[in-house]
Amino acid sequence: MLNSSFPVFDGHNDVLLRLRRGGQKDPVAAFLNGEDAGHIDLPRARKGGLAGGLCAIYVPSPSMTKDANGDFPTPAQPDALNETLAMARLLFDIEKRSEGGVTVCRTAADIRRSIETGSFAAVFHIEGAEAVAGDLDALYILHQAGLRTLGPVWSRPNAFAYGVPFRFPSTPDIGPGLSEAGKDLIRACNDLKIMVDLSHMNEKGFWEIAELSKAPLVASHSNVHALCPHSRNLTDRQLDAIRDTQGLVGINFGVLFLRDDGVKDPATGIDQLVRHVAYIAERIGIDRVALGSDFDGTTIPAEMKDAAGLPKLVEALKAHGFNDEELAKITHLNWIDVLDRTWAA
Ligand SMILES: [Zn+2]
Repeated sequence: MLNSSFPVFDGHNDVLLRLRRGGQKDPVAAFLNGEDAGHIDLPRARKGGLAGGLCAIYVPSPSMTKDANGDFPTPAQPDALNETLAMARLLFDIEKRSEGGVTVCRTAADIRRSIETGSFAAVFHIEGAEAVAGDLDALYILHQAGLRTLGPVWSRPNAFAYGVPFRFPSTPDIGPGLSEAGKDLIRACNDLKIMVDLSHMNEKGFWEIAELSKAPLVASHSNVHALCPHSRNLTDRQLDAIRDTQGLVGINFGVLFLRDDGVKDPATGIDQLVRHVAYIAERIGIDRVALGSDFDGTTIPAEMKDAAGLPKLVEALKAHGFNDEELAKITHLNWIDVLDRTWAA
């Protein structure tokens, strides 16, 4: 099988939201049997060598009309918790009905075993912690259920922090840092060994977490600000801080975050992705860069099309000059390593 030595374990997908909102009669069957929508389902994952990744639970804003401050409105805690439980149930239903085809992984050993046996390795991730606002009880229960990584914010304010708004060109230094509740959340994540995801944090929040957290700094789906000055991307100083904690950056395939002109054009080439991978490898090391597709959550290069197109990226990385050992790190080993160190610490 093409590129079978480079299974891709990926830092971010939104397939659970797509299935939750997609209107399929049986969303579990749509995932397991495949369909002609979005970027990921099990047959296309297998075809493209997508071995697994962080499956985000993201609760959209109640409206996409910005409020008086220019921010997307934040979902209320009970609504966010209900939606989170619905999408988590979907994930566990997929695992159950897959009869071994999908595994919800709680340890690095689970991920390694799943990749070896060809079972899609899903990690339960939350993007935007509205569901656990308040006393954090839900955080402890969701962790018991399998939650292993969490981003405190999406690109909007919540009780914990201020997610960086989408702006181009713009520094990520927009808005205030963590609230006291936000600091408690980071400490609780450290205690539970839940990975804290820095993608969507603004710059103040990023540096406060860098100061407070004991875990490696990880941005699951963000790119290089020096190459594409979008507010969602990481400055060189932020990249250096990630290096200093032996953290990781997962490269986002979203065309919006790739080009130096910030144009949202699906005709953007896969070479633009390679540019960001190469920059990070060059600046902070080959062990610090991986993939964070944002499949089912953003507009990706049309030439990739969907998860089945991943071998094209592996080929482009190879053509750029990455050797087999480096390709294995970029495609899966670096993710497994940083999760292992975060979860086992
Ligand atoms: Zn995101």
